[in-house]
Amino acid sequence: MAEKRFVYADNAATTKISDAVFDAMVPWLKEGYGNASSIYRKGDESARALNKAREQVATALGAEPREIFFTSGGSEADNWVIKGVAHSLAAKGKKHIITSVFEHHAVLHTCETLRKEGFEITYVPVSDQGLVSVEDIKNAIREDTALVSIMYANNEIGTIQPIAEIGAVCKEKKVLFHTDAVQAVGNVPINVKEQNIDMLSLSAHKIHGAKGVGAMYCRRGIVLPNLIDGGGQESGKRAGTENVAGIVGLGVAITNAIATLPERTARLRVMRNRLIDGLLTISHSRLNGDREKRLAGNVNISFEGVEGEALLLTLDANGICASSGSACTSGSLDPSHVLLSIGLPAEIAHGSLRLSLSDETTDEDVDYMLSVIPQVVDKIRAMSPLWEKIIAYS
Ligand SMILES: *Cc1c(COP(=O)(O)O)cnc(C)c1O
Repeated sequence: MAEKRFVYADNAATTKISDAVFDAMVPWLKEGYGNASSIYRKGDESARALNKAREQVATALGAEPREIFFTSGGSEADNWVIKGVAHSLAAKGKKHIITSVFEHHAVLHTCETLRKEGFEITYVPVSDQGLVSVEDIKNAIREDTALVSIMYANNEIGTIQPIAEIGAVCKEKKVLFHTDAVQAVGNVPINVKEQNIDMLSLSAHKIHGAKGVGAMYCRRGIVLPNLIDGGGQESGKRAGTENVAGIVGLGVAITNAIATLPERTARLRVMRNRLIDGLLTISHSRLNGDREKRLAGNVNISFEGVEGEALLLTLDANGICASSGSACTSGSLDPSHVLLSIGLPAEIAHGSLRLSLSDETTDEDVDYMLSVIPQVVDKIRAMSPLWEKIIAYS
């Protein structure tokens, strides 16, 4: 086996903070501690740093600064939009929400809470390639539909959805459209105006920013209920003294992600394809999700006769950090709802491996993974009664 190295291939779960982001944040954790709401210069410096970050996030999305609201992350933004729209439009008799079966739990569990409150939720299916159909969305829209919420790129299989087309349908039918773009921001070109996106969620820690900070874009003219009542922060809609360092870091992270996007996408695609082609030479393996319409850094492959937990633990022992589904479901033995949604049987879904690459990933990392993973799969299969059955019947 190749000489052991440490390979972080779980960037869809979280990323390492970049030097540029870290360096930009530090002054705001030390000398720049002024409260942005204070009148003196030390406060005003913080307020100006927040303004700059708001402009940076707005620019990255093709939005206006006043349409950006800082949050504690993607989950908070998802909750704010979905519950906010539901509760304000319920008064007008609109109690129907459309989403997809393979959303992140921040969306699915929020919809489930609303269902218990009396809202009706339509979960559109996804194809075996992990794509939502625009026709399905169109057909699901009713008189009483308040919101369509479809993720931009899936966090497990990386598939990129037809967001502009869905946006156009929603605009035509006069229904609000939200997208959870946590995986897409900085990895796919986004323009909320051109794509008719009314609301969008993003998170800093998926793009080399800090954990616990994100943002919600809300098109001007749409009035969401306040998320947190209190002081006047975030136009009075999300009170609480701002996380200046985290927000400054988000501004830098998103700006850098956009600036390096074309070059990074080209480089990651090559590494991703090399991984996919190499891993598919393992017998009884399959790629999950459309091969072309997927994030440049996402690899998701199932190996029959392999148990995901065993795979991850053995890879960890070899220095490789990976995932077998979404981080929220690992620890429980439920197969991933995303892999089930594209039609995988539970036992194959269990044996899936997600490798998510980033700026930091090198060709040597890819070489190492391609040398270790086939051996690990072989080793696990050699001990698996399930694998014995599979080869006996094939
Ligand atoms: C990570 C993630 C979230 C949650 O974001 P947090 O900032 O960790 O709350 C939501 N949606 C998707 C698609 C994600 O990948």
